[in-house]
Amino acid sequence: MKIAVFSTKSYDQEYFEKYNQEYNFEFSFFETSLNFDTARLTDGFNVVCVFVNDIVDPETLRILSNNGVGLIALRCAGYNNVNIESANKYNIKVVRVPAYSPEAVAEHAIALILTLNRKTHKAYNRIREGNFSLKNLIGFNLQNKTVGVIGTGQIGATFCKLIKGFGSKIVAFDIHKNTALLDLGVEYMDINEVFKKADIISLHCPLNEHTKHIINKDSISKMKDGVMIINTSRGALIKTGDVIEGLINKKIGYLGIDVYEQEENLFFEDLSERIIEDEFILRLMSFPNVLITSHQAFFTQEAMVEITTTTLNNIKAFEKNEELINEVK
Ligand code: NAD
Repeated sequence: MKIAVFSTKSYDQEYFEKYNQEYNFEFSFFETSLNFDTARLTDGFNVVCVFVNDIVDPETLRILSNNGVGLIALRCAGYNNVNIESANKYNIKVVRVPAYSPEAVAEHAIALILTLNRKTHKAYNRIREGNFSLKNLIGFNLQNKTVGVIGTGQIGATFCKLIKGFGSKIVAFDIHKNTALLDLGVEYMDINEVFKKADIISLHCPLNEHTKHIINKDSISKMKDGVMIINTSRGALIKTGDVIEGLINKKIGYLGIDVYEQEENLFFEDLSERIIEDEFILRLMSFPNVLITSHQAFFTQEAMVEITTTTLNNIKAFEKNEELINEVK
């Protein structure tokens, strides 16, 4: 099996090379992302392995099909960047890693909440400069606060269990109720009720045509004043311009994002010596109550092992013509 890995970082290569010893696949690692312009690189490969910001649209899939690619192996859970209908048309199978470590992402959402609330990032910098003042570092207790969870699948459910440990009340919305969470005291309700009741809103649903921009001017207007919004799911769940407006007029008290609508031009790269032209991210970076991480919620040792081994097993099943248990249909 010849596999072209796109958007490769040193850690991807390291993990694939370590675990490939049992599989003996032939890997080629490309730093570039996959899109229409780079699709010609797939000539001669059976499998293409992609990540969150590779663009696998109908035009790209046409080239992949002409080049003989039979499998797209996503090394992530979300698959909004692959046009599944078009992949079906070209008879290209698509597999993903559905649940590599819900704890990794849920724990990162908690980290964003705690950091924004208790301002440990600011305290760290202050102390290094000999500033031991507590001015403006005041936070709030999570106990008895109402946390709204949108999407209670693998990650959302894990997040509920973790935040419950702080003594928070949980209100949730999902198109399918997770009955296992009812015993935990999670209360399901209409999404607008969640917006209305929650002190903190954490997004854990996938990005699709129903969820795109669910955080917008209208939904923000229903929220409590000073609400905290956390997004570790996909950037386009949030309409960035509307959130910026909400921050300016102080309706939104805190924003923690690990994902961003235009992240493909920024995230995972060291741009410290470049001029950043994206006006939205620059504006977000300027707020004292906004915390941005660069799509790192998945990035734990445990998750990397799971991502690597599941991807290798997905490819092995394809090679052996076995059932693709992680196929996206
Ligand atoms: P999952 O499929 O287990 O759960 C998603 C849940 O969202 C399901 O319960 C589903 O019913 C629900 N849902 C679907 N449409 C909805 C809607 N319109 N409104 C409310 N809920 C809806 O997925 P998961 O493993 O929990 O992952 C959730 C998302 O997290 C992924 O889609 C991915 O975008 C994101 N993610 C981010 C990172 C990261 O590093 N930041 C890593 C992994 C996953």
